[in-house]
Amino acid sequence: MSIPFIDLKTQFRRLEPDVRARIDRVLEHGQFIMGPEVAELETQLARYVGAEHAVTCSSGTDALLMALMAYEVGPGDAVFTTPFTFIASAEVISLVGATPVFVDIDARTFNLDPAKLEHAIAETKSNTSLQPRGVLPVDLFGLPADYDAINTIARRNELFVLEDAAQSFGATYKGRRAGSLGDVAAASFFPAKPLGCYGDGGAVFTDDDELGETLRSIRMHGKGKDKYDNVRIGLNGRLDTIQAAVLLVKLAAFPQELTMRQQAAQRYDELLDGVVRTPHVPEECTSAWAQYSVLLPRRSEVQAVLKEAGVPTTVYYPKPLHLQTAYSELGYGEGDLPVAEDVAGQIVSLPMHPYLSASDQQHVASSVRDAVRDLSPTEKRVS
Ligand SMILES: *Cc1c(COP(=O)(O)O)cnc(C)c1O
Repeated sequence: MSIPFIDLKTQFRRLEPDVRARIDRVLEHGQFIMGPEVAELETQLARYVGAEHAVTCSSGTDALLMALMAYEVGPGDAVFTTPFTFIASAEVISLVGATPVFVDIDARTFNLDPAKLEHAIAETKSNTSLQPRGVLPVDLFGLPADYDAINTIARRNELFVLEDAAQSFGATYKGRRAGSLGDVAAASFFPAKPLGCYGDGGAVFTDDDELGETLRSIRMHGKGKDKYDNVRIGLNGRLDTIQAAVLLVKLAAFPQELTMRQQAAQRYDELLDGVVRTPHVPEECTSAWAQYSVLLPRRSEVQAVLKEAGVPTTVYYPKPLHLQTAYSELGYGEGDLPVAEDVAGQIVSLPMHPYLSASDQQHVASSVRDAVRDLSPTEKRVS
């Protein structure tokens, strides 16, 4: 018997009557596009995050894309981001014709290192013809990046900050919620994210009224006064009403689930202390624990042993973006962003979800402990 890596089934059983009732209501009223559930959800999301505007959309990727479109980022522009993330974070920069500039990560938090950001901006200004426009930090595994430092550098250089909060919905930085930490933020409601729907979904958050209105226009084919008045090039970027209905139920259960994730993370911390390098959460942050990721020097061997023990693991992310074939023409090589490369070689994520039992976690931890010990050459006895 294998432990599930994430457990959407248990969650569904728990929320089933409410989910079915909410979906049923949509089936009855029939407003499948921009039905009343969408506006209701946006009000609740904005309140939860602490942002003036929540603009729901079709995915986390489209949320990032819409934000870049709203800032009119395009060819000749540079956007600074981390190489240690899901491809979508950088892909959207390329999709609008701009150029991602990768900035190495902090070895402890795995997030964009502000100390290296300043240097990357200066270098881009003096050595390229690119125009620095924005910074796109990612709250990896649910942990917010260092926004005070990033926002300060961005302001000094007149750059916007687009927070990729795809994994961090529910996390906090100095008492403020993820999604409210830059000028604009993108969240994803992909099923496996901390708050997920039953398909694709996302949202953009901002306090800026004008930006909020631009985002609503972009979401609906660049609409002006109405949908047949088109004032800019936009997208079909709407969230389905049925997904909004699902999210309304899931959002109500979310605070409790977040606490359960945090309890699970704490149990792992205790069980794995001294066995592997456990996640570092700075004093000023709480994590949404999208993933619980540890560093394992002999990763693939340990993973194989864990698999035998019924413990699934996943590697997020095996290859940093600057070394991806899709970005070969940017001219990066191995060794250019050494921290990201080193972490990518050792990182592994353990099963993590709100319904993880203490006994399953004990099994995961003892399996990790055994695997690490058996593979450790220093433990071999000399007779
Ligand atoms: C999941 C994810 C996205 C994209 O979200 P989708 O809803 O799958 O489009 C973007 N950035 C990060 C860091 C993610 O983990």
